Amino acid sequence: MSQLAIYPGSFDPLTKGHLDIIRRAGRIFEAVIVAVSNNPAKKHAFSVDERIRMIEDAIRSLPNVDVDTFSGLLVDYLKSKKARIMIRGMRVVSDMDYEFQLASFNRHLYKEVETVFLMPDDQYTYLAASMVKEVARLGANVDAFVTPHVSSKLRQKFGGRKK
Ligand code: ADP
Repeated sequence: MSQLAIYPGSFDPLTKGHLDIIRRAGRIFEAVIVAVSNNPAKKHAFSVDERIRMIEDAIRSLPNVDVDTFSGLLVDYLKSKKARIMIRGMRVVSDMDYEFQLASFNRHLYKEVETVFLMPDDQYTYLAASMVKEVARLGANVDAFVTPHVSSKLRQKFGGRKK
């Protein structure tokens, strides 16, 4: 049985909350692929390449973690990797509705798939990439929430304070 787990998401941009989930998954599974969704229907602040580079930079010290991109159905991507385990992060109760819906749909489409929910450290419970973008756009310093690489990409994109 493959112990490969896929952690899919937009990662627009990668936050320390995502990274906390990646580290936890890396400690549980033999191999983890962080899969950046390439969905042209969704509007993203960062290109797929930019989002991949942010993750590459952050996972350098994690030997069993890799990054990749996928388009189309997530279950098709899992099948192409011969993976059955999908990781999702669970922050607060408000995540549950959407995450359960997604997990049920994916199980309907691919009955062998198991969605594994991981809970981040308390300090990341209210951290969302959308909020990071919003406050970075307004000029706030977001160093507490993202890696230095992501922080500098946010400053390049939106301007903003160094400290
Ligand atoms: P998507 O568009 O697929 O929801 P995201 O990048 O927003 O992509 O999130 C990917 C996954 O990471 C989701 O399961 C989401 O709940 C989880 N996640 C996002 N932010 C955090 C965080 N701060 N802590 C833990 N999990 C998180």
